[in-house]
Amino acid sequence: MHQIRYEDCKDTAQAREWLEKMANVEAQDESDSGGGLPGPIVWRDKTFSTYDKAHEYLEKTYRPYEQVGVKYKAPVKETKVMRDLNVRINDELGKKNEYIRSHMKKDTCTSKYVGCVGCGSKLSREHLSGNHCPVCGTDLRSISTLKRIEAFDKKVKMLRKRLEDETAKQAEKNGNVRWLVKFEYHC
Ligand SMILES: [Zn+2]
Repeated sequence: MHQIRYEDCKDTAQAREWLEKMANVEAQDESDSGGGLPGPIVWRDKTFSTYDKAHEYLEKTYRPYEQVGVKYKAPVKETKVMRDLNVRINDELGKKNEYIRSHMKKDTCTSKYVGCVGCGSKLSREHLSGNHCPVCGTDLRSISTLKRIEAFDKKVKMLRKRLEDETAKQAEKNGNVRWLVKFEYHC
C-alpha cells in the first residue's frame, strides 16, 4: 500500500523543517516497516499564482515516491468579489440540484411506457428507478432537460473561472508565498 498526500506550509525555514519532520513521523506511524519518508523533500524553486495551479503542476510532473514541494501565492484575505462569486456558485449548484430532483424521469413521465433511444427497449414506468435505461444505461430524460442541466454546469464553470482569476489577481497583488508539498510513502 502507498499513501499520497498534499500539505502546505508557510515559506519560512522553520515551517518547512517542521512540515518535513511531521510528515516523517506520520509516515513512520502508518508504516508497517516504520521506514518514514523514502527521501527528503525536494524544494523546487517554482512559484505558481494559485494553490490549484501548484497542485496541477505536482500532479502533471508526478514521479513515484518523490517528496516534492513548489511555491504558490495565496491571497491575504477573501475580497468581496470572491465572496460574491462563492455565493453565486453555491446558488447555481443548489438550483441545479433542485432542478434535477424535480425532473426525475420516473416522476415526470406521463405515459405507461418509456422508449429508450439507445437500445430501443420499451420500459415500464413503474420499474424505472433512476433516469437511466437499465438495459444500456442511456439517459432517458428529454433533450431540453439535459440541455438545462448542461447550462447550469456551464454557468458554474464560468463562475469558477472568474473566481480563479480573481483569486490569482489578489494573490499577485498581495499574496503571501506558501509551499505545497506532495508526499508519497509506503504504509
Ligand atoms: Zn436502453
